[in-house]
Amino acid sequence: MTGIVEEFLALKEESDADVLAMQVGDFYEFFADDARLVADELDLKVSEKSSHGSSYPMAGVPLSELTPYLKSLVERGYTVAVAEQRGDDDTTREITRTATPGTLLEATGADARYLVAVVREGDAYGLAAVDVTTGAFRLTEVGDERTALAELGRFGPEEVLPGPVLRGDDDFCDAVRDDADATLSVHGTEAFAPGKATHRVREQFGEGALDAVGVEPEGPGVRAAGAALDYVAETGVGVLSSLTRVQPYRADDHVSLDPTTRRNLELTETMRGDREGSLAATLDHTVTAMGARRLEAWLVRPLQRRGELERRHDCVAALADDALERDAVRETLDGAADLERLAARCTSGSADPGALKRVVDTLERLDALRERVASSPSLADSPLGDVLARVDADDAAALRETVDDALADDPGGETGIFARGYDETLDELAAEHDELVAWFDTLAERVKAESELSRVTVDRNKTDGYYLQVGHSQTDRVPDDYREVKTLKNSKRYRSAELDEKERALFRVEEERAARERELFDELRAEVAAHASLLQDAGRALAEVDALASFAEHASANRWTRPELRDDRSLDVSAGRHPVVEQAVEFVPNDARFGEGRRFLVVTGPNMSGKSTYMRQTALIVLLAQAGSFVPAESAEIGLVDGVYTRVGALDELAQGRSTFMVEMQELSNILHSATADSLVVLDEVGRGTASDDGISIAWAATEYLHNEVRAKTLFATHYHELTALADRLDGVRNVHVEVDDESYASAGSEEESGPATGRDGDVTFLRTVAEGPANRSYGIHVADLAGVPDPVVSRSRDVLERLRADEAIDVRGGSEGSEQVVFDLGSGELRTDEGATGESGGEGEDAAGDGEDDAAALDSEAAAVLDELRNTDVNNSSPLDLLQRVNEWQKRLD
Ligand code: ADP
Ligand code: MG
Repeated sequence: MTGIVEEFLALKEESDADVLAMQVGDFYEFFADDARLVADELDLKVSEKSSHGSSYPMAGVPLSELTPYLKSLVERGYTVAVAEQRGDDDTTREITRTATPGTLLEATGADARYLVAVVREGDAYGLAAVDVTTGAFRLTEVGDERTALAELGRFGPEEVLPGPVLRGDDDFCDAVRDDADATLSVHGTEAFAPGKATHRVREQFGEGALDAVGVEPEGPGVRAAGAALDYVAETGVGVLSSLTRVQPYRADDHVSLDPTTRRNLELTETMRGDREGSLAATLDHTVTAMGARRLEAWLVRPLQRRGELERRHDCVAALADDALERDAVRETLDGAADLERLAARCTSGSADPGALKRVVDTLERLDALRERVASSPSLADSPLGDVLARVDADDAAALRETVDDALADDPGGETGIFARGYDETLDELAAEHDELVAWFDTLAERVKAESELSRVTVDRNKTDGYYLQVGHSQTDRVPDDYREVKTLKNSKRYRSAELDEKERALFRVEEERAARERELFDELRAEVAAHASLLQDAGRALAEVDALASFAEHASANRWTRPELRDDRSLDVSAGRHPVVEQAVEFVPNDARFGEGRRFLVVTGPNMSGKSTYMRQTALIVLLAQAGSFVPAESAEIGLVDGVYTRVGALDELAQGRSTFMVEMQELSNILHSATADSLVVLDEVGRGTASDDGISIAWAATEYLHNEVRAKTLFATHYHELTALADRLDGVRNVHVEVDDESYASAGSEEESGPATGRDGDVTFLRTVAEGPANRSYGIHVADLAGVPDPVVSRSRDVLERLRADEAIDVRGGSEGSEQVVFDLGSGELRTDEGATGESGGEGEDAAGDGEDDAAALDSEAAAVLDELRNTDVNNSSPLDLLQRVNEWQKRLD
């Protein structure tokens, strides 16, 4: 005879789950380590349970309250096995389901929840992605690890099942855990076996499925798909039959977007990890959860080819042009149920009568939408009708009628789930029920009429059932056929043989009615589940219309235009804007032009002038066009790209503690390998994370390679002015710079000399206009000035800069070996200690030192100390945040 705890530990051993919840009577219990874990995570109380002389921690939740706890645990990344009592005497316990992050049917919220299985064979990778909450099942094969990880990342999976080879691949596993932030689960090697997996896929999707899908039997894609199906089956969520079709895709249908690029461009979340402020959040005006999921999927999977894109643009154009129709469409959609998810719930048996009612309501909306589109002059000619036509109207109408005829108006209410007339048995039971209820309702009246009793009531409670209640003053008048059942303070309760019989009849009718309702409802739900693929089609159509209407809404509210798609490598954007930044500031529009003899733009300009914004907006305009959206520009001709690659220099990313120079270089190397002549490359201050001379060398070499070999359209923002010289030497390289108002720069200088520090904000005007030609000044000092760096510091900085420009030697102050002379060669960008220069410019050096002393004399010792620290600050090896803090501290000390 084993105890409860021993049984728990044995079941736990048998499962692979992190936590086991075991049914013990009316509770699910957790013991030992599991009890401690759930107590910590979920704030449950722990008690002690002794068994066989040892004592174990124990925690429990009532049977009916498991779901929320299960959800919380799984959303925190744990897998949870559930063991239930089985058998007549409830003596056996077995594991009936395992809830895992990728198979959590109870998930709420609009987001997709993917489980992705990945199989590696040599260089080939197969990926199968399944969302059990919506029935989506996607399958692809790719040719290298980088693409595999990029595809994996696009799904934003909750859980990943690595195949046998990848399980031991630490790099892969780290990337899944850290970059994709997914739970790694190990599933039996057998499920990945080619034969078994292929069999499973055929069993699920039909014998011909693989041919239709275009992947080889027994290949890595099918192995991944088979393993995913096996895993879903094993977890016991019961949704296999809502996985009605497999949707294969080729990675090269979509614009290649690696995880770094997705992050840099803040497509679905910002660099800090918030949804707010991302492109998706800015564009999302959808009114349904399905629509929101679709919009996001489009943004992370822009298309490479025109056909489907122009269809989307046509729809957006029609909806954008007619605000009344657009409002009508969006109003019809608003409140539609999440059909993709309801289909899965019908299949798993968890949908309630209210859910089926919402299916009817939503199918009605689909009809209304169809009619609206067909009868609207502005929408009838658009492909919106085709989107809706992908749902079989007759099937949908038939299903809708079946369910609608069956259900009562308020299927949760008094009158029961089903409408009168739906089922004869049910109607008979209802009539019988009504009759009995009426008998009880009129009982008091009858007794009064037939006896001397003037005050009597009939009531019902749990312990006594129905009874007659009579006050003590009248108990002598109670008819003979009534017997006393209870005495209370002021009254007595009575029952008669007839009452006993009627009550038995009523209870029997109630029971039979409930059983019949359950039976009929299970049938009805199964009927709806049998139409899972119809519901999924309908859900997809509504989702698409919602996403297209959202694009149109945004375009019309923000004066976006329809892009013209081209098959060449040109790009011509007039007055383009950044889709997210334009929401927050008065935005200065800019052109971006690529074409013959112009495929590499070196972007220069001062800090904070708008270089990064300009390059990102250009990439985003291309991606938006290829997602099917209008774009923030006056006009845009877009040569379709096969990939967008971005990299921000490590120095600019350091503030977020995200990146190192090593990572920067790895990613640069990836871009140089992967980009093609059809790609768009954005490099932002790449090479800046190291000392200046090798930084320049790397930037220079990368430029030559991108220009000569890769030939991708490239935007390269750099603070290395040396790169602007390349425009003269390489035929496809052009310089652009962000303009700054020179006059305000000059006046800022003169103000400085006249002494009083006046409104610093007005000192420099950033025009944020991008113009032809290299930027000709360095404005770093002005930015320091704007940031509030004390005037003596700023003026000394100007002094140093002038000497550099004049090719004069500069004294290095405060170095550990005293002063030395340094010459900065502006031509080569080199900073060097120059022996030759020392002798020759010694006099000047002394002058400089003299000036320094004069300045120092005029300052107090604190200011001198600050100057020393400023001189010794190693800009190239400090993070921007660090530097800001230091500047702030200096300022305080000088005040
Ligand atoms: P850089 O890369 O040159 O240092 P950023 O692109 O980071 O500059 O832009 C600096 C700031 O200027 C950002 O806060 C941005 O919002 C704003 N900005 C950039 N471009 C524009 C523009 N065209 N119009 C208005 N504000 C802009
Ligand atoms: Mg920048």
